[in-house]
Amino acid sequence: MPNSGAMRNARRNPSNDWKCAPNWLPTLGNRSRGGVCKVWGVLNDLLKAARGVRGWRDWRDWREGLDMRTWIPIVLVAAAASAWWLGRGATGEEPMTEPGTVEIYSVAEGKLIQVERVSLSDAEWKQRLTPMQYAVLRHHNTERPFTGEHCEKPSGVGVYQCAGCGTDLFVVGTKFESGTGWPSFYEPIHKNNTGATVDRSYGMVRTEVHCARCGGHLGHIFDDGPPPTGLRYCINSASLVFVPKAE
Ligand code: FE
Repeated sequence: MPNSGAMRNARRNPSNDWKCAPNWLPTLGNRSRGGVCKVWGVLNDLLKAARGVRGWRDWRDWREGLDMRTWIPIVLVAAAASAWWLGRGATGEEPMTEPGTVEIYSVAEGKLIQVERVSLSDAEWKQRLTPMQYAVLRHHNTERPFTGEHCEKPSGVGVYQCAGCGTDLFVVGTKFESGTGWPSFYEPIHKNNTGATVDRSYGMVRTEVHCARCGGHLGHIFDDGPPPTGLRYCINSASLVFVPKAE
């Protein structure tokens, strides 16, 4: 009973505002003198100052002092803030996937070429791709680290293409070992072949990278990569197909 004496004293002395925090608060130490109680005491004082009310002794007075006219705005503001926060991920610019043409670099052609964008329905993508490819490319999922087939750097040279539409994306020469468990490159094969948007999901602000031709989600770009760009294209293996180049 480490705090029983102090608690008895607190009950006998009602002027002690912070004597007892509500029972549902976690106990971080001696509840009668420190830890949670002191924090709760500060909050209690702030509430009293904000309300201009004198005589509140503990949390029960605070709870009973707030009527429905006070609680309803608090609940509404909290609900609106939660909805805004959760919806932030959907406000970023979406990749361009409408029909039309796009100019991309082709390794086979050795130059920039005009190609039709690949714009399919969700059902068509689901039929064309494996479940993992579909989850990553079309629904922004992320594969578990160290599980993808392209984590290791291949021994030969070649090109990594988009698993959704076959667009050339990265070459082996720009791949490096990041230690993250995802294939990492310091630059794409050409700036036209990928696009980037702001990704605000999961309470973070990141730069999402996608295929310029089909809009398929590839991964994210970070600024902790090696020279010469200082960038790290952190890519899901599921979004890539490796095409080795004949020696
Ligand atoms: Fe693509």
